[in-house]
Amino acid sequence: MPTLEEARRLILGQARTLGTESVELIDSLNLVTAEDIIAPWNMPMCDNSAMDGYAVRTADCVPAARLRVVGMIPAGALSNIPAEPGCAIKIMTGARIPPGADAVVPFENAETLGEYVQFKASVERHEHIRFAGSDLRRDEIAIPAGTVIRAPEISMMASFSMSRVTVFRRPRVAILSTGDELIEVGEPVAPGKIVDSNGISLAAMVKECGATVQMLGIARDTVASHIEKMTAGLQADIFITSAGVSVGERDFVRQVLTDLGVLLEFHSVDVRPGGPTTFGVKNNCLVFCLPGNPVASMIIFVELVKPVILKAMGYLRVFQPTVRAILQDKASKRRGRIKLLRVRLESKGNQLLAFSSGEQTTGMLKTLLRADGLAILPAERSSFCAGEEVEVHLLSSNVLMQQEAI
Ligand code: AMP
Ligand code: MG
Repeated sequence: MPTLEEARRLILGQARTLGTESVELIDSLNLVTAEDIIAPWNMPMCDNSAMDGYAVRTADCVPAARLRVVGMIPAGALSNIPAEPGCAIKIMTGARIPPGADAVVPFENAETLGEYVQFKASVERHEHIRFAGSDLRRDEIAIPAGTVIRAPEISMMASFSMSRVTVFRRPRVAILSTGDELIEVGEPVAPGKIVDSNGISLAAMVKECGATVQMLGIARDTVASHIEKMTAGLQADIFITSAGVSVGERDFVRQVLTDLGVLLEFHSVDVRPGGPTTFGVKNNCLVFCLPGNPVASMIIFVELVKPVILKAMGYLRVFQPTVRAILQDKASKRRGRIKLLRVRLESKGNQLLAFSSGEQTTGMLKTLLRADGLAILPAERSSFCAGEEVEVHLLSSNVLMQQEAI
């Protein structure tokens, strides 16, 4: 049975990117560039003004000098009025610097006297000019392959007039719930029945990664139903099932997957919750069988499945951010196995405090709703005291955002 760390390494060793595709710029958000984006021209393209003001020759700007204003260059205009000695030209932000000028004096530092202008302070050569190529030189790599695309990358590509970009394609992730006790969300409930919440919670987590979800619904506890649904699931890049991996009499998941040609790499992971997690591979499909318990399935998704989806999407950083926090409650567990303790985080001064978010049995879903992270309680120990430092895998980075909004 692999440890959590060994399971992560083994699974990530199987994950690959899945080829590339061209997408509209706005649809590339949170995807990863599959090729270097090269500056097609100097940025900015030509020397231009950083301010609304007067384009001048610095040599003319001796104290108390008056310069004659001989023209105006609006932004976007292609003016060739030269800056002759003794003259100033009104210029708007972004407009091309006229030939002869070597500085821009902002309006707020200037006083007009009829058709003349006088400056309140000395003028430095090159001030308020943005020089051609000062941001990027033509042919320079502006965005390397392997970059996660955010708004600034979109801004850069838009400024190159690119309307599409080549990215690693999103994995298709198929999701299947299993069990006779399950009814679909919205169906009338009855004693003994359980609403299939795993299907939709796993779908939400897949969507959050940016991958494409394929919902396969529910496989009933018969071999035939499992074969039908699983055959479809194995067509995806990643196939996630939940439940049916314990030692119950009707737990068909592993047997049917094996019959369908999936090579199961492990049947359980040395971690709580989520121990019975199973992982296998068939051709290009990675198969994750998560426990049925909603808390366990979501925690294992974060710890083991999400990194694989992100790697397939081309991400280089695939693990949740980890912080160190001071445990505020004592905790105990069985020695010999890692426990992932659901914790709420609070910042105090420059420290983070980790409070248990409630009863830690796997059946307590509300404890996961209240949790900001999973404290890693190492395998070799069994009891932990308040005041100890623990490592916490963040469940969401929202907790690091300031909460001062009113
Ligand atoms: P199993 O892994 O089949 O033994 O299921 C463990 C627990 O998870 C049982 O209480 C199931 O009812 C519950 N469970 C299984 N599948 C789902 C699901 N899709 N949504 C919510 N709970 C589930
Ligand atoms: Mg079951």
